[in-house]
Amino acid sequence: MTDNKNSSRRIVLQSGLGLLAAAGAATGLRAQEKLAQNLVQYQPGPKDGLVCSKCVNWAPPNACTIVVGVINPNGWCIAYAPKEG
Ligand code: SF4
Repeated sequence: MTDNKNSSRRIVLQSGLGLLAAAGAATGLRAQEKLAQNLVQYQPGPKDGLVCSKCVNWAPPNACTIVVGVINPNGWCIAYAPKEG
């Protein structure tokens, strides 16, 4: 019986930790996980006609959801992924 109670507590505790982790991921904590510009070979100009403002990670007016710092709308990096449509 005691084992069952401990087991239940453990499950509840683990669930709580999972919720905390999910909450952290959905808040500003995530901003600290952005990539450095040099890691993604960011450049302030276009690459073969591809530009940040056409990327799914673009965050107007001058940011990116996955790369730190000020991002030029006409820039580019190796994480470029085209917006659909
Ligand atoms: S190309 Fe996309 S992922 Fe790379 S810096 Fe520009 S908006 Fe961010």
